[in-house]
Amino acid sequence: MVVQIAVGWWTNSLALLADAAHLFVDAAGVGLSLLAVWFAERPATAEKTYGYYRVEILAALVNGVVLCVLALAILVEAWERLRVRHEVSAGPVLVVAVAALGVNLLAARLLHAGAGESLNVRSAYLEVLGDALSSGAVITIRPGTFKAAEGPMPIGIVIDKSAEVGALTAGRRYLETIAAESSDVDITKHAVLVSIGRGIQEKDNVGIAEELAEALGAAVSCSRPVVDAKWLQKSRQVGSSGKTVKPKVYLACGISGAFQHLAGIKGNPFIIAINKNAKAPIFQVADVGIVDDLLEFLPQLTSKVQEMRGVAAK
Ligand SMILES: Cc1cc2nc3c(=O)[nH]c(=O)nc-3n(C[C@H](O)[C@H](O)[C@H](O)COP(=O)(O)OP(=O)(O)OC[C@H]3O[C@@H](n4cnc5c(N)ncnc54)[C@H](O)[C@@H]3O)c2cc1C
Repeated sequence: MVVQIAVGWWTNSLALLADAAHLFVDAAGVGLSLLAVWFAERPATAEKTYGYYRVEILAALVNGVVLCVLALAILVEAWERLRVRHEVSAGPVLVVAVAALGVNLLAARLLHAGAGESLNVRSAYLEVLGDALSSGAVITIRPGTFKAAEGPMPIGIVIDKSAEVGALTAGRRYLETIAAESSDVDITKHAVLVSIGRGIQEKDNVGIAEELAEALGAAVSCSRPVVDAKWLQKSRQVGSSGKTVKPKVYLACGISGAFQHLAGIKGNPFIIAINKNAKAPIFQVADVGIVDDLLEFLPQLTSKVQEMRGVAAK
């Protein structure tokens, strides 16, 4: 458990920390169970005709409550990490997860024998089994985690084969040609992006952002609702179903900060968020946050930038 906490902290792995929490509950649970069993074995007295059997049930209840609290804490942290990316060092996590799986399986085997006799031993057995499952869940490897080993080129021969595909293609039917959208701007190449979201409110207001972008020498990008409303082309969309951008400065104007949008912002840019809702999640990732109506703020910012650059305001 101590190793898991240390490595989990070091590698920034929530999976390991969650597994360590599981182990902690196991250790505390087994300790509590032993105490309860010892207490419950006390003989009944004239006042306590039922004896101390209830202590065992209370111990199981405490066990359950602690489990729920820890599970809730893990859920909250996991939700947070879904929104904001955390880098994890995969190698050490994998080593510890394999070791934890072994320890959990061994503990489960030892507890299995007494699981049928006592409610507490059974709950401890199920917990340990749950731990073994979560250790297994940690041992998942994403593509690119490890470098491919360099080995000798496979020796083989190329054999040309011809096949009759007429029967396979006969079911095809030409419907129409849809030309790929051409875009004047490649938002992935710009160092400064003025990105607009639903907060821009209508197509006629897009010009406000375009003027600021022009003054800054930036490009206008956007969130998905702006594309859905057809205020800008799909090629301007930042996010998991849009483009991945790596600017130096990202102005998020009227963008709430959904994780699908943030997923498209890489390279740790300097984020300036303008939003009239002080509680918008974008402020949690922004370096500078401005709580204001963007329809009033952006024109003022444009004038200021133009003034500083010696460009006459239109
Ligand atoms: C599978 C899937 C894929 C997705 N892919 C993407 C993606 O690639 N990119 C993407 O962006 N989204 C994507 N989404 C949508 C995503 O979940 C959000 O719905 C979206 O990002 C919200 O866009 P928004 O912030 O512009 O709008 P909203 O969430 O509606 O936020 C608008 C914000 O503007 C603020 N605002 C309103 N008026 C003003 C004003 N006058 N001045 C200042 N602030 C104002 C509001 O306070 C609010 O915070 C995807 C969703 C799904 C399910």
